[in-house]
Amino acid sequence: MKIRTKITGMGLLLVLLTAASIVGIAMYQEKVLERNIGQEVDLLVSSEIKKVAQNVYLMCRTMQESLEQMLTHGLNVAADVAGNHAQLNFKGAPVSWQAVNQFTNETSEVTLPKVLYDGIWLGRNTDLSQPTAIVDEVTKLLGVTCTVFQRMNDEGDMLRVATTVPDLNGNRAIGTYIPRYNPDGSPNEVIETLLRGEAFTGRAYVVNAWYLTGYRPLWDSSGSKVIGALYVGQKQENVTSLRHGIMDITIGKRGYVAVLGDKGEQRGKYIISGYGQRDGENLLLADSPSQKKEVEKILQLAETLDDRKAAEAIPVALHRYLWKNSDGSELHPKMAAIGYYEPWDWVIMATAYEEDFYPARQRMASALSNMISWVAGVATAIIVLSLLIGYYVARGIVRPLEKAMEVFEQIGQGHFGLQLNVAARGEIGQLSRSFNNMVENLLEVTASRDDLNHEIVERIRVENELREISARREDLERIVNNSPAVAFLWCAESGWPVEYVSPNISQFGFDSEDFCRGRLLFSSVVHAEDLERVQEAVTRHCSSPKGGALALEYRILNRRGEEFWIVNRLWLRRNDDGEVTHYQGVVLDITARKKAEADIKKLAYYDALTGLPNRSLFMNRLKQALAQAKRDERLAALLFIDLDKFKEVNDQYGHAFGDKLLKAVGLRLASCIRQNDTLARFGGDEFIMLLPGLNEISAVNIVAEKILAIMAEPFCIDQRRFDISSSIGITLYPQDGENTDLLFKRADMAMYVAKDMGRNGYCFFDVKMERTSRPRYARKVVAGQSHLLPIDGPE
Ligand code: GH3
Ligand code: MG
Repeated sequence: MKIRTKITGMGLLLVLLTAASIVGIAMYQEKVLERNIGQEVDLLVSSEIKKVAQNVYLMCRTMQESLEQMLTHGLNVAADVAGNHAQLNFKGAPVSWQAVNQFTNETSEVTLPKVLYDGIWLGRNTDLSQPTAIVDEVTKLLGVTCTVFQRMNDEGDMLRVATTVPDLNGNRAIGTYIPRYNPDGSPNEVIETLLRGEAFTGRAYVVNAWYLTGYRPLWDSSGSKVIGALYVGQKQENVTSLRHGIMDITIGKRGYVAVLGDKGEQRGKYIISGYGQRDGENLLLADSPSQKKEVEKILQLAETLDDRKAAEAIPVALHRYLWKNSDGSELHPKMAAIGYYEPWDWVIMATAYEEDFYPARQRMASALSNMISWVAGVATAIIVLSLLIGYYVARGIVRPLEKAMEVFEQIGQGHFGLQLNVAARGEIGQLSRSFNNMVENLLEVTASRDDLNHEIVERIRVENELREISARREDLERIVNNSPAVAFLWCAESGWPVEYVSPNISQFGFDSEDFCRGRLLFSSVVHAEDLERVQEAVTRHCSSPKGGALALEYRILNRRGEEFWIVNRLWLRRNDDGEVTHYQGVVLDITARKKAEADIKKLAYYDALTGLPNRSLFMNRLKQALAQAKRDERLAALLFIDLDKFKEVNDQYGHAFGDKLLKAVGLRLASCIRQNDTLARFGGDEFIMLLPGLNEISAVNIVAEKILAIMAEPFCIDQRRFDISSSIGITLYPQDGENTDLLFKRADMAMYVAKDMGRNGYCFFDVKMERTSRPRYARKVVAGQSHLLPIDGPE
């Protein structure tokens, strides 16, 4: 879905929801209000008619009170009128009356004494236009009807002899009487009261209608018997002010107050009808049974009202019913408040047509529905407006976005030079500016991306190379570790701190960790006797322009003091300034070789039995000594020492014993020499001694004496003590010869002379000896001594 549709839709949806909610609430409220208004109107109407009914009740009561007062006054007036002028006399001549029962209209003839007033018979005047004493005066004075009654018989029937009460014909209703007993047989209340000698005030049936009345008994002269009565009264319907008051009441448009009778023949009869139109009509005699039924119901309701029991001061019942008016129109729903004024037997009905209140309800309802229409109309207008606004807002948002999307698409295809030219304000404008900035940055990023790619490729290549190197390094390390050569890298600093040493350093009893981080300086492991030589050689090599490797053989010592001979080949590592920063080297263990060399040397230059230098070594040293003596112009002496009669020792004790003796002799002779002197075993029992750097010959004598003295000490070998001596022949350089051969030859010669001279002595060479010593040589030859052969060779 497009953004435009979404935004418009969203706006519309929101407005629709709001509008629908408002309309819904308004419609619901309308129903509620309508219902409430209906109830309120009903309540108002019912309250109104109830009040009206109660007011009418009050009006009746007030009216009754004032009437009763007036009737009491009337009776007083009547009594006064009757008594002031003359005694009302019931003793006149007998006269016959056709007495008519006021209820039944039955006639009965009765003869009674004439009633005289002021001595004059009241007559039998039926004409209201003709005067009748007393009653006319009272009527004139008070406006009420007045009657003089004469007791008809012992029963107590009271005959009207003078009256202003009219009959149906408009004549004075004289001759009618109130019977002691009503037609239903019940005693007449008025007569009963009068016969008791009491006055009666109240509603009473008079001639042919109901009146509000006052009766007072008239006594005979003895005052013991009621012989007649005075009456004043007013026809109930004739209480015009009340009547008009009631009739004037309107409830709503057409509502009114009506009064029905409840008891006797008055039951169901209109006493006061609406607007007085149907007065006297008995509703129970109506044609419509439903109407009769309603009237019955109303009357029954009225009968149930009892103001003594009611919570309200004036009890009222409410009744709703359908009513057809006398015009015969359709049924109308009505509401009535029913009260009952018991003293007058009045059923008071305050009635209202419900239809009269419909307009108010309708007005309310139509106002409400108007409101709904307005709400709906406004909601629709808002919806339309919001649709338009939403559309334009959406267009305002979407247009720049669409433009932007076109540009995005092109940029996506690689046209980075494009810019957004959206002239929008607010967020869209901000977005455009940000986007343009982003594109510019993107251009820069793209440019640097290629560089970055190159860099990455280069880095990968370098990393691969590093990996290769690392692999090679590992190979090398493996090779080095498995080879006898130990690889070193140490710094060209004081003490030579080791930077790297291959783990196979362990073959020298070191741990590679011993050297790491400068814990052990390389110089500290170099043998103290070799260190100076090594340092010198290295320093020399550093300053030499030749470069290349330097090979050094020296000793090293491990921590346990074990000594190793090594050959160390080292190369220099220089920095850019040409300064030596490191020494790289390999070290090989040559201890075994060195030992072999030493053994070989020993075999070549030392005598195996005594450990003394042999003839070869001695000859070398002799040559050196002679050269030195020559340079120093000093003397050197050569002493040829031969044990005396050694052969006998051999013969006597065995060859091994002889060997031990030879060793012991070697040791003793060695104790006689200086550091620079050399003692060697020449062969057999012959030893030879070189004393170089001598200044005088006497020193030689001392040595020779010393030898003889030391040899004179007895030897103790294998727990055997015995003596042995030696004979010593001595030659001196340079006087006895300047080369080794000659010096040897002459020393040997001198030795033999010493032997000849008796042994255990020494003899310096003398040239004379060469002439005298020939036979000895011959003997030697005979003895087969090979070492003399070269000297004697020519012989
Ligand atoms: P003279 O006093 O004349 O020197 O008599 P001599 O018995 O010492 O005889 P001479 O010096 O001529 O002989 C040396 C003897 O030493 C000969 C040989 O039996 C003995 N001899 C030579 N070499 C050894 C050796 O290595 N060990 C032993 N035990 N005897 C040797
Ligand atoms: Mg000997």
